[in-house]
Amino acid sequence: MDRAHLDPATACVHGGAGPEPFTGAVVTPIYQTSTFVQSAVGEHQGFEYARTQNPSRQALELHLAALERAAHGHSFASGMAATDAIFRLLEPGDHVLLPDDAYGGTIRLALRVHAPAGLVIDTVDQTDLDAVRGALRPGTRLVWVETPTNPLLRIVDIAGVASLAQEHAPQALVAVDNTFATPVLQLPLGLGAHLAVHSTTKYLGGHSDVVGGFVATDDDALSTRLAFLQNATGAVPGPFDCFLTQRGAKTLAVRMDRHCANAEAVAGFLSEHAAVAEVLWPGLASHPGHAVATTQMRGYGGMVSFRLAGGEEAALAVCKATRLFTLAESLGAVESLIEHPGRMTHLSVAGTTNEVPSDLVRLSVGIEAVSDLIEDLDEALAHC
Ligand code: PLP
Repeated sequence: MDRAHLDPATACVHGGAGPEPFTGAVVTPIYQTSTFVQSAVGEHQGFEYARTQNPSRQALELHLAALERAAHGHSFASGMAATDAIFRLLEPGDHVLLPDDAYGGTIRLALRVHAPAGLVIDTVDQTDLDAVRGALRPGTRLVWVETPTNPLLRIVDIAGVASLAQEHAPQALVAVDNTFATPVLQLPLGLGAHLAVHSTTKYLGGHSDVVGGFVATDDDALSTRLAFLQNATGAVPGPFDCFLTQRGAKTLAVRMDRHCANAEAVAGFLSEHAAVAEVLWPGLASHPGHAVATTQMRGYGGMVSFRLAGGEEAALAVCKATRLFTLAESLGAVESLIEHPGRMTHLSVAGTTNEVPSDLVRLSVGIEAVSDLIEDLDEALAHC
């Protein structure tokens, strides 16, 4: 059996290192240690100091790399730390192309941390490949893709962007934030990306109990540089966080099946509701990215955004009125969440060209019984 190409459902359960080598423990224990004994100077069992490497982290990295069908994986303390490590692969003066509706924190990191340090940042509507072609320069060193995007759920053609980058900016790295899709639904490296990036805080962890980040790559040299950055900057997850994330990842495939099915029913319900002006879910035939999503994804995901006919006031009223959909930031866990991106997750881009519509509500559809979720939304929409 080719373990590198297991079905995602099998990779979720069996991906990674297998039983722990010292005791045969089926689940890798939490190695709560900061350092490791050396029998003589420089002689050890592969672990020296826990910022550099830790067996719990190594188990997680092997597991998530298997899910992304990647040769290498690197775990970070958060999704933003993982994103930051990729920006740190660049040099002052390098040009970076971001999507114009990336996660607000990614735009903030680019514009307020890395632009002052010398990176040249441009944003473009990446759903428009002509616009991407026009924005690429010979000096472009990173094309950052997010698909589906947060919170507008736009779909970017990963293979299309990767081949344009290869043609017009051959030295550019293509990195895909795969947080919304997860490796169960989308495999960016197989579509031409050099790096797949995650906020493991979301679907990979899946239970709203741990913050983390991850980068997968097939490129040996990039992996070496990412391992250097993990050690040099120290933004690594602790062993308990690694254990929790790995535990969550084992059920990712079954959770994604349910998230997708529930999202489909919720999107259908909202599409028919008089208080709703527009539903954004890539599984709807009316969604502009539906055809591309169908070719590059195995399912359309559990995130649904919608715009209220009654504007911002109605959007705020729905967020306040739901009972099962918990009003909170974050996404991708078993419980359904609701939020107002303009005033919550995307507040950092308010007043910029990347501002999101004020009548927009974002749902992270959980794995509860969908009839209860729809009843909750129906009752809440009555307040609009
Ligand atoms: N990427 C996406 C698409 C996100 O939604 C988020 C957080 O919401 C991040 C990255 C950042 O991840 P973290 O909160 O784990 O730092």
